[in-house]
Amino acid sequence: MAKWVLTFGDGKAEGSAEMRDLLGGKGANLAEMANIGLPVPPGFTITTEVCTHYYANGRSYPAELEAQVAAGLRHIEAVTARGFGDAENPLLVSVRSGSRASMPGMMDTILNLGLNDQTVEALAKNADDRRFAYDSYRRFIQMYSNVVLDLDHDLFEDLLETAKEKKGVTEDTELDVEDLAKLVKGYKAAVERDSGKPFPQDPAEQLWGAISAVFASWMNPRAITYRRLNQIPESWGTAVNVQAMVFGNMGETSATGVAFTRNPSTGENRLYGEFLVNAQGEDVVAGIRTPQPITEAARAEGKVRAPSLETRMPEAFKEFAIVANRLEQHYRDMQDLEFTVERGKLWMLQARNGKRTAKAALKIAVDLVNEGVLTKEEAIERIDPASLDQLLHPTIDPKAERKIIASGLPASPGAAQGEIVFSSEAAEEAVAGKEGKKVILVRTETSPEDIHGMHVAAGILTTRGGMTSHAAVVARGMGKPCVSGAGSLRIDEKAGTLTVGGKVFRAGDVLTIDGSAGQVLDGAVAMIKPELSGDFAALMGWADEVRRMKVRANAETPADARAARGFGAEGIGLSRTEHMFFDDERIVAVREMILADDVEGRRKALAKLLPFQRSDFRELFEIMKGLPVTIRLLDPPLHEFLPHGDKEVAAVAEAMGADPDKLRSRAAELHEFNPMLGFRGCRLAIAFPEIAEMQARAIFEAAVEAAKATGEPVTCEVMVPLVVGRADFDFVKARIDAVAKAVEAETSGTLVYQVGTMIELPRAALMAAEIAETAEFFSFGTNDLTQTALGISRDDAAPFLSHYVDKKLLPYDPFVTIDREGVGELVAIGCERGRSVRPKIKLGICGEHGGDPASIAFCEEVGLDYVSCSPFRVPIARLAAAQATLRARKALRTQDAA
Ligand code: PEP
Ligand code: MG
Repeated sequence: MAKWVLTFGDGKAEGSAEMRDLLGGKGANLAEMANIGLPVPPGFTITTEVCTHYYANGRSYPAELEAQVAAGLRHIEAVTARGFGDAENPLLVSVRSGSRASMPGMMDTILNLGLNDQTVEALAKNADDRRFAYDSYRRFIQMYSNVVLDLDHDLFEDLLETAKEKKGVTEDTELDVEDLAKLVKGYKAAVERDSGKPFPQDPAEQLWGAISAVFASWMNPRAITYRRLNQIPESWGTAVNVQAMVFGNMGETSATGVAFTRNPSTGENRLYGEFLVNAQGEDVVAGIRTPQPITEAARAEGKVRAPSLETRMPEAFKEFAIVANRLEQHYRDMQDLEFTVERGKLWMLQARNGKRTAKAALKIAVDLVNEGVLTKEEAIERIDPASLDQLLHPTIDPKAERKIIASGLPASPGAAQGEIVFSSEAAEEAVAGKEGKKVILVRTETSPEDIHGMHVAAGILTTRGGMTSHAAVVARGMGKPCVSGAGSLRIDEKAGTLTVGGKVFRAGDVLTIDGSAGQVLDGAVAMIKPELSGDFAALMGWADEVRRMKVRANAETPADARAARGFGAEGIGLSRTEHMFFDDERIVAVREMILADDVEGRRKALAKLLPFQRSDFRELFEIMKGLPVTIRLLDPPLHEFLPHGDKEVAAVAEAMGADPDKLRSRAAELHEFNPMLGFRGCRLAIAFPEIAEMQARAIFEAAVEAAKATGEPVTCEVMVPLVVGRADFDFVKARIDAVAKAVEAETSGTLVYQVGTMIELPRAALMAAEIAETAEFFSFGTNDLTQTALGISRDDAAPFLSHYVDKKLLPYDPFVTIDREGVGELVAIGCERGRSVRPKIKLGICGEHGGDPASIAFCEEVGLDYVSCSPFRVPIARLAAAQATLRARKALRTQDAA
């Protein structure tokens, strides 16, 4: 018989941490904690396969489920010595979702299930304070009605407010048991009125209502959005965890809290968490009351007046610290924990690998290696290469003046600035608008409904909530700067104002937030790029030891080349020479060259460009000091350079001493309908060899000068773009070699250089064997190769390509991640055929894919020698290349074992 339900508790479990796919993260970890003997309230998990069955069968359950759930309940009853629905000693349970990937707050939870008019009395009898029972019942009716019966939350909040007003009090805790019992009556009447049925009294009916609601919540809009943003497949489904309730709200010796075993923002190795006395778990996350630090050290540091858990409940704290450490050692990673203390006894409700900022991830991985917990290879595998981007985020310039208008919690590091918006809708509108504004989303507190606004905002600022509030957790996950709980700010959403210390800010005013310091600053404050030393350098060093592929940068300006060196580039894989032509001083000469109608005219313009090019190349060679530098000959779609307005035409006409009208008609002649497939690449050198000759001369003369200046021989690679086969490549190569000979003769030296080509056209990939007879290296230009293989214009793809991705006709944008089956196949063919003729041919990639981790994995598989990407992605590529090497080694080992 299929097993749909697995139990845990009392020192053992039917599941384990390995069964995450089946039990979801929460269920698997509850089972694991029970197995290693930690105090976990007993319960059972209904598997994710039930969810799959539920949606595949018109929202119905497998036949055996009912009996298995009943058996699960009997297990809880046996361990707790309570009865579900028992009028003397009732068992209450929580019902929670838990999918394979953590989706914090996206799905539904119900607490205190099993309460009805009878069991509430039993609960009251057994409690120190009868209030507790009626308060629990009130909360249960509200939660259940909202989640299962789909009644509005506000309905109950209004009744609660009215009750408080009547009594003349402001806090829930000031209501006595009679007030609460009355409130329960009012709630039940409201339910009956609005749903047409009395509130269910039968615990079994309550339980099945809750189970169905949790499964249904897998398809709620916020869960769907979250899955889309985090690439979580719909087919995974959620599990449902039913667990005996323990109460953090049983009075002053009870508490509930959340903690991380290390600081999730900085990675610092110190227990880090918050708790509330006499509260239920949801209160901590919701940010309704301000929680207190767990440790005494954190309390003192934060100058918090209320006591820490460490002093308030020393026994429970001591046990918790031991459990936290044990779990970290067990899972070999930083843990995110939820716990409850019920009348002094500690209960663990959740353990999972904690979400963290990139900065913390890095520090934790490096520390765990130094602590002997992880190997360097494991540390490399732990870090998501794309997340390194967060570390490259700007911070506030220490020299800049900070006009601090408010302080809050440093919830997610990095600085951001932008215009104030007060809603997620406004955030989306401003960012999507023509001007593409940057915005700071300012909210009292965010909720899961806000993720779309948080996603587009540059930073997030809230006035309530702690370090584990929704805003803080989600912002850290997204790598966005966030300041939470800036309590001195007053938001008036209707008026669209933010007031602090008498000063009023309006939507559209600019703020800067410092998510590392927890500060809110007036205006746009100067920011600086981060420093990449310490843990970053350590991890990068380990990655460099491991990786097989080299990492180069695409760079042409000296600033880019220096940045690339700073990020650890091992050379330049692509220098797009046309990018050097847009300078004010040069553009007129470039236009002259293009518009000249004879060789003489072109040579005249080229002579003006030669010294510029020579000094550009010399600077690049000097910065790269002996590292390989690949310089590509001119490859612009010509239209990029044509003069547009009359003023531009006049300037060129004057420089050439030509008639502006004649020039205008020459420009019109050069107009192309499809420039990307037009007069570009080596076609320019074929039509006008003198252009290639000038560039080759500039390259070689610069190489001689740079070698003299630095004392390092220059390794230069001259690259011919957009060839279709060997013949056009050879034509251009002959010109380059001739210039090299000439320069050698003039300088009486020997040049060390290679001539190779880009493989950017399907035909070139197919003709790779022939091309390799004379080409000394290939660099795959996968931007053009994608464009030409798919027949999708790089410049015009946006309006229709997204439809392909949205409708799942393509798995992702092929300009971002290489299309393995199609473009990848062409690359593989190019490599294979190239090597068949020239076994040691140097192979690289310089399309945008060279900085994309998934594409880098592909490059490792086909055995490229290097990847080349934009300077800021060099660190990402270094790490991704190391991970790719490790993966390849593992695959080899598995192969050998088989
Ligand atoms: C390419 O086509 O992949 C390439 C690197 O060249 P460009 O982007 O300059 O066309
Ligand atoms: Mg190209």
